[in-house]
Amino acid sequence: MEKKNLDWANLGFAYLQTEKRYVSNYKDGAWDEGALTEDANIVLNECAGVFQYAQTIFEGLKAYTTEDGHIVTFRPDLNASRLADSARRLEMPVFPEDRFIDAIQKVVEANASYVPPYGSGATLYIRPYMMGTNPVIGVKPADEYQFRVFVTPVGPYFKGGAKPITIRVSDFDRAAPHGTGNIKAGLNYAMSLHAIVTAHEDGYDENMYLDPASRTKVEETGGANFIFITKDNKLVTPKSDSILPSITRRSIMYVAEHYLGMTVEHREVEFAEVSEFAEAGLCGTAAVISPIGKIVDHGKEILIPSGMEDMGPTTKKLYDTLTGIQMGKIEAPEGWIKTIL
Ligand SMILES: *Cc1c(COP(=O)(O)O)cnc(C)c1O
Repeated sequence: MEKKNLDWANLGFAYLQTEKRYVSNYKDGAWDEGALTEDANIVLNECAGVFQYAQTIFEGLKAYTTEDGHIVTFRPDLNASRLADSARRLEMPVFPEDRFIDAIQKVVEANASYVPPYGSGATLYIRPYMMGTNPVIGVKPADEYQFRVFVTPVGPYFKGGAKPITIRVSDFDRAAPHGTGNIKAGLNYAMSLHAIVTAHEDGYDENMYLDPASRTKVEETGGANFIFITKDNKLVTPKSDSILPSITRRSIMYVAEHYLGMTVEHREVEFAEVSEFAEAGLCGTAAVISPIGKIVDHGKEILIPSGMEDMGPTTKKLYDTLTGIQMGKIEAPEGWIKTIL
């Protein structure tokens, strides 16, 4: 298969239209058989549920070219089950998990020429999503839905190495207690936009959200979970019902314990503890891990000991081990890598 002639290493994180996408429609209580299509546009009624009451959920994962030339995805079964959880919370029909995996297989295969080559640092970003499609004006769930998957090649997240970022403690909340913080819904992102735009205007890379009830415990950022390394080299990750269960974070916890022999603590993290940690980072599919150098709490600076120049040494080990597993350089735990081609 001939690869597209793209400048892989200089692609950004942006949408580039590829050839095929997958569509399945839900009507009269059942999903149709689904198919690939070349049509990248969706034509919906003006009153579709997604436009009026934001009934839409999504997932994000990547396909990679491994060292031995295969195209693989990383733990897509967890994206399938997380989308099902999101659907149940927003009163949407579940797209069957085996069909989710099959849809990913079909779309990546059909766009194989857009999967960046091994070593380019670029990857193929996969975006499954679902929305209410029929007219809804009284507040209730839609009766008809569409599930889609498109892919777009994205460049290396860090060009020229992962520089530690500066984040601030936000005055906004990302998710209410017992709200929708634990599902991947567009609505959580709509309400985070003002907070991130103003954070950028004020010179910060990201927002740290605290627990909305007491504002004393660390939750996450708009689109990534936190990891912390203690001075005695334990991995600590915040636990809360309003945090989105990141697949990257769950994988890092496994890697820390089973590959690096570290003690892992998944528990509530007091904001007051943060200044005690040796290293800090954000984790998610897009960047895998972004190191944090500085956290600013209303003018009070917390300098993470690993500094503003490089990833902390343990964070780097976690990053190298996990990306090594994803790229086929390190043996993966059973079931983590799904070979597409
Ligand atoms: C998607 C997302 C993450 C990261 O999850 P991954 O499965 O690791 O990509 C973290 N937080 C939020 C709010 C998210 O939407």
